[in-house]
Formats: sequence, C-alpha cells, structure tokens
Amino acid sequence: MLWDFNSIKLIFSFATLGRQSKAVGPIVNLITSLKNKQKTRFGAGIRHQLPDELAALGCSHALLLSTPQQSDTAMDLAAGLNGHVAGIYSRATMHTPVDVTEDAVCHARDVGADCLVSVGGGSTTGLGKAIALRTDLPQIVIPTTYAGSEATPILGQTEGGVKTTLTDAKVLPEVILYDPELVVSLPSAMTVTSGLNAIAHAAEALYAKDRTEPTSQLAIEGMKAFAQSLPILVNTPDDLPAREASLQGAYACGAVLGSVGMALHHKLCHTLGGSFDLPHAETHAIVLSHAVHFNAQAVPDLLTPVSKIFDGDAPGLALWDFAKSLGAPMALRDLGVAESDLDRATEIALSKPYWNPREITAPGIRALLQNAWSGDAPGT
Ligand code: NAD
Repeated sequence: MLWDFNSIKLIFSFATLGRQSKAVGPIVNLITSLKNKQKTRFGAGIRHQLPDELAALGCSHALLLSTPQQSDTAMDLAAGLNGHVAGIYSRATMHTPVDVTEDAVCHARDVGADCLVSVGGGSTTGLGKAIALRTDLPQIVIPTTYAGSEATPILGQTEGGVKTTLTDAKVLPEVILYDPELVVSLPSAMTVTSGLNAIAHAAEALYAKDRTEPTSQLAIEGMKAFAQSLPILVNTPDDLPAREASLQGAYACGAVLGSVGMALHHKLCHTLGGSFDLPHAETHAIVLSHAVHFNAQAVPDLLTPVSKIFDGDAPGLALWDFAKSLGAPMALRDLGVAESDLDRATEIALSKPYWNPREITAPGIRALLQNAWSGDAPGT
C-alpha cells in the first residue's frame, strides 16, 4: 500500500454505510461533527451504480448535466440508465451564469426531470446546485475535478457580470459518486491546479475563526492525500489508486470548505477572478503560497502542518516549492494580468472588509500581489 489513507477511507466508507464500529469511532465522530449527511461512495467504476442510486432516491427521470466538453461522458452515463433519463443538458459553464440556470430550469420542467445528475467539475456542479435551489430537485454529483463544490452548501452565481455567493442547505447534493476512472482524462495541468485549489480550502481551514479539531484534522488528511497523489499523477495520470486518493483529498478539502469560513486567500482569488476574468483553479494555484506566507506571520503554529506535509521550513515556501515541482503556473502575469492592474486589485481586495488572522493592509496586499504577479517566491 503506497498511502497511509486508512483513516480517510474509513471516514468515507462509514459515511456511506452509516454504521459504527470501535475501530473507526473517532473518525465517525469527526465526520458526524461536521454534520455531513451526504451519501458518498468511492471506487473505480462506481458510476455504474448510478441506476441504484437513482432508485434509492425514488427517482426515474434524471436530467444529466455537463459542460459542452464533457457531453460524451454525460451521454455514456445516460446510456447506462435503462431509460430512466429525462434529458441531457450540456451547457454548464464557469461561474454559473443565471441566464444559463434559468434556461436549464425551464428545460428540467419541460422534460419532467425528477432529479439531477451532474458529471464534471465545479462549473457543472454549480449548475446542478443552482437548479436545485430553484426546484428542490435532488442531486447526484459525479465529480471529475478536485474543486470540492459537491461537498459544500455554497453556490456562486453570476448575473450582470457580478458574482455573488450564498449558502443554503438546499443546494448540498444528496449523493456523491467519486469514480477515479472519470478523472483520468483530467489534463495534467488541470490535475495540478485543481489539486492546489483543493489544498487552498484545507490550508485556510487550519486558521479559520470557526475551526474545530475535526475540521483541522480533516484538512490535514485532505492535504496529505494531495501531497502524496499529485506527484504520482503528474507522471502517471492513469494511476487509479492515486486518482482515488486525490478524490478522497478533494472530498476532505471540500467538506472543510463547507464547514468553516475562508479568509484572505479565497477573497483574493474571488476578487482577482471576478475583476480580471481569470481562470478559477489557476488563480488559486498561484495565489495560495503567497496568501499562506502572509498569514503565517500571524499564526505560524496553526500552519505548521502545512510545512510538515509539504516538507519545507515555512508553510508558504513549502507550498511554493511543491507547486513549482509539479509544473504549476506560478505567475499572475502569465494569466494576462498587467502589472498596472495590481494597484486596482489591491484596492478591490480591501474594499470589503472580512475576517483574516492577520490584519490586511494596502502595502501588505500590494507586496503579496507583486510576488504572485512576478512568480517570485513568497516574501522575497
Ligand atoms: P470546471 O468545472 O469549470 O472545469 C474546467 C474544464 O475542465 C471544463 O471544460 C470541464 O468540462 C473540463 N473537465 C472537468 N473535468 C474533466 C475531466 N475529468 N476530463 C477532462 N476535462 C474535464 O473547473 P473547476 O475548477 O472544477 O470548477 C470551477 C468552478 O467551480 C468555479 O466557478 C468555482 O467558483 C466553482 N467552485 C465552487 C465551489 C463551491 O463550493 N460552491 C467550490 C469550488 C469551486
């Protein structure tokens, strides 16, 4: 066995089976304390259990959702549903535009859908959540990236160019099927950036104001899963045990994102993504080490697990080295941000106050962004 994921596997199998045993008592307590009531199943080929999951929800007319790029995957899944298909809607797109959601809601009603099956990354999951918010339809999610949206009651939506975020139990999917076979096709670059996106949820959970011992433990397990699986996946994308480990990491990181408040890193990525139309996972991948380095000055002890897991002397530098070793994008300028945009980005980042473990000042954020823009190591 290459990985020490016993604890995390037990968490998930027990979340699935819903029974107790002496050996995994503390882990069951951990997941129970997160009040996670989702049914979660892992395994190569687990997508073929979709008909059973549909029946268990009492549903027989599934509307399958995907991006245009993953419509073939949605069609394959539909073919295995023995006719219990209301339709396929393959117009999911980044940032969950409300006009697409409204069109999809009309479509769901027209075809008489009684549940949603979202296959894809955070964009497709976001569309499913947005439809569920408006229709109360149950959701089954088959994630194919590590964004972790499937494990949160959070929904971001865009209207008139403005992205707003809400939290509502109605949008939390009922069932998640994590099938590593469907993640093999995730391009190497996106495997890395999406993994770093997930690690960002966990890193910020470590210093969240409302963190608990179980959320911190789960965050640590999620980061370990990625520290061990991503270097393997960069070279061997079809390594199914490593893909499954990374999906376990995605679930742990998503679950903590849904359980505690985020701070500087997520706010900065939201600001930059929204204001400069930057790609989600790449932005997270670049900003992460810089935000962690910034906050480590205030809460070094809380971030010690990051240094240990990613094998460095300081948490921000350890993450920067890890990202670089995986060939991640390292500089905002490579995403098309101009150096002259950094003052405006700083202003926007400071315009709406939010809690952060370290005081957020204009010079501090400007310096952070300068390093993230140029791709220099944090704090240099
Ligand atoms: P994405 O869903 O936009 O996917 C990016 C591209 O990769 C798409 O074209 C998609 O079809 C393709 N793709 C996905 N999986 C693939 C696979 N296995 N093989 C080949 N291609 C694949 O990207 P994402 O980073 O997963 O999601 C980003 C979105 O999710 C953002 O809008 C973000 O705000 C949202 N998000 C929401 C939450 C939440 O809790 N609400 C959490 C994280 C992310």
